[in-house]
Amino acid sequence: MKHLDYYRPQSLDEALALKGERGAEALFIAGGTDVMVLGRQKKLDCAALISLRGLAELTQMKLEGDTFFLGAGVTLSRILNSPEAARHLPILHDAVQVMGSTQMRNVATVGGNVMTAASSGDTLGPLLCLEAVCRLVSAQGERRVPMHEMFTGPRVTAARADEILLGLDIPLPTSGDRKSSGCFIKLMRRAALDLALINVSVQLWLDEAGETIAKARVAAGVVAPTPVRLVESEEALEGAPLAEALKEQAADHALGRSCRPRDSDRCSSWYREEMVRVLVPRAAGRALNRMGIDAGQVG
Ligand SMILES: Cc1cc2nc3c(=O)[nH]c(=O)nc-3n(C[C@H](O)[C@H](O)[C@H](O)COP(=O)(O)OP(=O)(O)OC[C@H]3O[C@@H](n4cnc5c(N)ncnc54)[C@H](O)[C@@H]3O)c2cc1C
Repeated sequence: MKHLDYYRPQSLDEALALKGERGAEALFIAGGTDVMVLGRQKKLDCAALISLRGLAELTQMKLEGDTFFLGAGVTLSRILNSPEAARHLPILHDAVQVMGSTQMRNVATVGGNVMTAASSGDTLGPLLCLEAVCRLVSAQGERRVPMHEMFTGPRVTAARADEILLGLDIPLPTSGDRKSSGCFIKLMRRAALDLALINVSVQLWLDEAGETIAKARVAAGVVAPTPVRLVESEEALEGAPLAEALKEQAADHALGRSCRPRDSDRCSSWYREEMVRVLVPRAAGRALNRMGIDAGQVG
């Protein structure tokens, strides 16, 4: 790897000031699990790294009223070991369980996963379904970008180069006593330490009687250049009686406008399309199971 200057600021303000001084030649680094791979591949186009590791402002994870704040610098292991995350955000908890290895999860951060913005990023579908809001800070102040506006192209986000992702505000799906749960499923070629061939996330909210799906959020990764919401699946699920929704609508509408899988050396577009049709109803069924509803045989 070429020589790089390395800065270890002690506060968010210091990190922003350093970025102001070095401009485009400096790159932020958190856990480094994506940045170091780029370095080894000689694709790191910068002269300096500014570490965000351990900055107090970025490492908080707390429930504040109806909002779960997840700091960008929270590691995947902390999410995995958080009883609050497991209880309130099972869809995200599912995802971190199948990301990388223990060693990698101990350093990799959720903010790094969002800012890398890979179509295969495993936390991205869950965060889309949870309608998380990204909090971006710069020397000019803070602005908020909803997750569904964050991914503007392959590995490109709506964040400016001078902005740091502070964290994510996640509205609690069960606030106001709403019945809600979600599920994430990742298909890999081997059982661990692999990127997704495809991943699917589903979060469901029931009506007050618990008989129909009042609201659905469905997202998938590696079916388009960015992680995407499958809006047609959402529309098909919303208002549907539970069993019918799973058996017919969810599968038939999974392949909507936003789902455009491509052939890759890892698997074919045909296989990805077939798997979206299988995994959307399966994830929806498991989300219902988590609300104590017997959704029948959904795999
Ligand atoms: C062995 C291995 C296995 C992996 N397995 C998976 C997997 O199963 N699923 C998956 O989705 N990914 C996987 N990855 C990819 C990677 O680990 C994740 O994307 C991880 O979450 C990145 O986090 P990080 O903190 O290491 O990011 P870094 O490498 O530090 O940073 C990544 C990018 O985000 C930017 N960035 C980081 N934090 C901020 C911030 N707060 N504000 C602004 N910009 C920021 C950096 O500038 C950089 O561009 C794997 C990687 C490896 C090496």
